[in-house]
Amino acid sequence: MYCFAKISAHQHRSIDEETQELSDKAEQNRRQGVENLVIIGSGPAGYTAAIYAARANLKPVVFEGYQIGGVPGGQLMTTTEVENFPGFPEGITGPDLMDRMRCQAERWGAELFQEDVEFIDVNDNPFTVQSSDRKVKCHSIIVATGATAKRLNLPREEEFWSRGISACAICDGASPLFKGQILAVVGGGDTATEEAIYLTKYARHVHLLVRRDQMRASKAMQDRVFNNPNITVHYNTETMDVVCNTKGQMSGILIKKHDTGEESVLEAKGLFYGIGHTPNSQLLEAKLI
Ligand SMILES: Cc1cc2nc3c(=O)[nH]c(=O)nc-3n(C[C@H](O)[C@H](O)[C@H](O)COP(=O)(O)OP(=O)(O)OC[C@H]3O[C@@H](n4cnc5c(N)ncnc54)[C@H](O)[C@@H]3O)c2cc1C
Repeated sequence: MYCFAKISAHQHRSIDEETQELSDKAEQNRRQGVENLVIIGSGPAGYTAAIYAARANLKPVVFEGYQIGGVPGGQLMTTTEVENFPGFPEGITGPDLMDRMRCQAERWGAELFQEDVEFIDVNDNPFTVQSSDRKVKCHSIIVATGATAKRLNLPREEEFWSRGISACAICDGASPLFKGQILAVVGGGDTATEEAIYLTKYARHVHLLVRRDQMRASKAMQDRVFNNPNITVHYNTETMDVVCNTKGQMSGILIKKHDTGEESVLEAKGLFYGIGHTPNSQLLEAKLI
């Protein structure tokens, strides 16, 4: 016990000393034109890193992105209510939440640039980060470039994004827009089957739209789908577009059967994409040490 207390007191002192040392060194580095830390990405991961680094006086430089890997603020900028973030009992919209994270990072001294990073060189020290507008030398880089949900690029996708079409059943499934409604999930892998099963908690019925004549999902997930009376699987089914009613609300999905070429409208108030994510890791290709 004593020993532990003594060690903690000692550690506490050295952490303070280390922080001061780090901060002095950081300032010295910056004066020499080399940043201590560059953070690439401005989703929750990027801003969290920025807040911690800025509070440690590292004066991080953050490239928030512009369009390569999504918008500044990341994936939550494309959603309405975020209801699982602690501290917001009434929920908060994705853009508001990200705006708060941004302000917090800025308040502690992070320097933010809304630019895409196009290239990094980690062969020489200091490293080089090249954005659309500037080149920065730095001693460390945090890559927090997240992922991009794959989309189908349906003709009316933009119009109904977050108003019927979503890429995240777990995030949006419980929303009043979808509760008690007929919904559809597109995809035949584990993600899509997981989403379909999850949605049956809230939906009246769920259609699973599978392009091929079989699913790619694991046998266990397929069994769970087949055993669920609230899911109907449609094979050989291409999702062509969504359709709306006279009030402009999404009311169905235009589908086409591969085997027969027949087109029809399936009644549904929501369409969830379960076709995977693409990691925004192009910058790191052939760069990992
Ligand atoms: C529609 C939708 C709704 C969601 N709702 C919820 C929810 O309610 N609750 C929940 O917990 N999760 C939700 N999620 C999941 C959540 O958004 C992600 O888990 C989270 O955003 C991941 O954070 P991240 O920081 O890792 O990456 P991302 O949010 O993907 O951010 C990546 C960042 O990197 C930047 N970037 C990429 N490439 C570059 C580059 N070359 N140069 C500079 N910047 C770059 C992008 O601009 C972006 O700012 C939702 C996702 C979606 C799509």
